[in-house]
Amino acid sequence: MKITEILKNKKTTFSFEFFPPKTPESEVSLYKAIERLKPLHPTFISVTCGAMGTTREKTAELTADIKEKLGTESIAHVTCVACNRDEIFELLGDLKNRGIKNILALRGDPPEGVSNFQKPKNGFGFANELVRFIRDKFGNAFSIGVAGYPEGHPECADPEEDLQNLKRKVDEGADFVITQLFFVNDNFLKFQDRAKKIGIKVPIIPGIMPVTNIKQLLIFEEKCGVIIPAPLRAAVAQLGDNREALEEVGIEYATRQSKELLKSGVPGLHFYTLNRSKATKQIFENLNLTVSLNE
Ligand code: FAD
Repeated sequence: MKITEILKNKKTTFSFEFFPPKTPESEVSLYKAIERLKPLHPTFISVTCGAMGTTREKTAELTADIKEKLGTESIAHVTCVACNRDEIFELLGDLKNRGIKNILALRGDPPEGVSNFQKPKNGFGFANELVRFIRDKFGNAFSIGVAGYPEGHPECADPEEDLQNLKRKVDEGADFVITQLFFVNDNFLKFQDRAKKIGIKVPIIPGIMPVTNIKQLLIFEEKCGVIIPAPLRAAVAQLGDNREALEEVGIEYATRQSKELLKSGVPGLHFYTLNRSKATKQIFENLNLTVSLNE
């Protein structure tokens, strides 16, 4: 089913993000994590596309498997990076033939150490061009999501310009937005308001990630410009390598964030699982969602 339809009919969506496994061992643990999260009845599961588009085939396979074999709706991330129009056309055709109905249309990042995104020859420079292409070539075969940045995209110095760039994606045909993770709910709520004011009317689903270590937190800060509130930074720094205690802090923080966001009436919550099940499962239990979702 298209996510557009689900968003129209369902009160609140709960979705999980996974990335394609790199080794046979990680493949086994990924499927275990998905199986463990299945009883939570996620509204949909999204499957990322590796840096520089390295996992396109695996992404397609896993997205189709989740839908067919596990019976959960899925969405394939498609990036513009290192790919020309013909290759993207072929990839989209393959996704359509596999029965996939949902795509998260993304630009992707430049390779490590390169600061500027290089538009591939005969390819796309920005995600809005990809959205236009999908609509031109495939009409309404797919429901299309795009990425949003409540605290701004690191390459765009002006948050208003960045928001206008989000609007371009919606104007070209995107049906919904999933956001970058954030830790300050107020930044998301203001972003949502600003988006509405400039005419972005599609649902904006906030992205939530339970923190499990300080290194990861600092990478998000440095690479994605995610703002880390001082109390969270202090709590995580104080725990050093104590994995269990860190996980507890992360789960507790994400639970509070999710509670507040749900109370504010967000259309859904999208959890960055990092291919693990424990934290997300615990957050669901804390929110009493295991019961209502199973109804
Ligand atoms: P765009 O919307 O093209 O924006 C990129 C930058 O260009 C922004 O600074 C924007 O303000 C600016 N811009 C946009 N359009 C224009 C325009 N027409 N003219 C001038 N400037 C413009 N990466 C992966 O490699 N694989 C994944 O699976 C993946 N999944 C993600 C899922 C989510 C929910 C999110 C939030 C991000 C994901 N990313 C993924 C990361 C994403 O690829 C990067 O953040 C990338 O740098 C930007 O992608 P985008 O689609 O937002 O790009």
